[in-house]
Amino acid sequence: MTRKLIQIDLSKSPYDHDTIHNRWHPDIPMVAMVDPGDDFIVECFDWTGGQIANNDCADDVRDVDLSQVHFLSGPIGVNGAEPGDLLVVDFLDLGALPDSLWGFNGFFSKQNGGGFLTDHFPEAQKSIWDLEGMFTKSRHIPGVRFAGLVHPGLIGCLPSAELLQEWNVREKALFDTDPARVPALATLPYAETAHMGRLAGSGVTKAASEGARTVPPREHGGNCDIKDLSRGSRCFFPVYVKGGGLSMGDIHFSQGDGEITFCGAIEMAGWIHLKVSLIKGGMAKYGIKNPIFKPSPITPNYKDYLIFEGISVDEKGKQHYLDVHIAYRQACLNAIEYLKKFGYSGAQAYGIIGTAPCQGHISGVVDIPNACATLWLPTEVFEFDIHPSVDGPIRHVKGDVDVPLSPDR
Ligand code: ZN
Repeated sequence: MTRKLIQIDLSKSPYDHDTIHNRWHPDIPMVAMVDPGDDFIVECFDWTGGQIANNDCADDVRDVDLSQVHFLSGPIGVNGAEPGDLLVVDFLDLGALPDSLWGFNGFFSKQNGGGFLTDHFPEAQKSIWDLEGMFTKSRHIPGVRFAGLVHPGLIGCLPSAELLQEWNVREKALFDTDPARVPALATLPYAETAHMGRLAGSGVTKAASEGARTVPPREHGGNCDIKDLSRGSRCFFPVYVKGGGLSMGDIHFSQGDGEITFCGAIEMAGWIHLKVSLIKGGMAKYGIKNPIFKPSPITPNYKDYLIFEGISVDEKGKQHYLDVHIAYRQACLNAIEYLKKFGYSGAQAYGIIGTAPCQGHISGVVDIPNACATLWLPTEVFEFDIHPSVDGPIRHVKGDVDVPLSPDR
């Protein structure tokens, strides 16, 4: 039987687990050592550590404590790993925990987290997704059912002290350009809710006050939220400290490219079956600064899409220069507007794009002044025909079945 390297107890707080941490710092001790060639299973909390419940009220999303996230399992040390190596990680399999076969999606309140379309959806909302083997559907968003593409939103190795310092300096500099901004421009270290795993003694306070938050993706990978880093893929991670220190979490059952709903994909607790090996000196040998990976040989077989275009002209008609972020936002808003014609509320349509295996593409970045981004909506996830036709859109979904809102919106 495969060794379960990290086991979690969902009835207890992640703070009561010393195999969990929620900051990046080189001093966090390894919770286990493995050899190159070993395979093992790691269990993970959902990214909020159980703050979101399986019910019909979004107050928990509205009130979530985002300074706690993400709860990561690890760090796992690999014997022989040294700075400059590449840690090769095979994702042999992933899944939900058998006693927790559900996930959540939502969008944060603009006052607490915000998100990609926060100006259009400023209130906290959520939808609950039931997992049926490899499929999922939601009582809050009728008319869609799709196969999952399970992946860890967040995985990477511990930073060195120098790399951590670099992160903190550059992110603070950005934050300081507009410290009062809501949502904030960056998430800075915050000792109060830091969980430093097995780090004990006099060094804890200092480490907690400088430990990097887990929100952004960085050179080591981290919170990349790449839906294709799924079962069967192989990733090559840069190593910065002796032993590597691989940590992971934020498991998603499914996600559209961009994780545009931010809270988040279909978020769940789960397990990952990994196998590790090393390429000595691999970072210099292959010129690698950020992780590279091979996708899975097995993915949901959705071949037909409706593709929505967006350009870098914003909602107010203002022209921007080759801005891909704005172009993708327009593509997503165009898809939401289209889905509303079939009876979905805007929030339900937003939820579909955030959770279904939508593809996002940068289609053009040279044709001044407009970037072109596209949102690929898989038509086969719908239980009815969503193609345009001469008969016009037929309303298949009652708009009064909405994603739960906080009552005092
Ligand atoms: Zn996530």
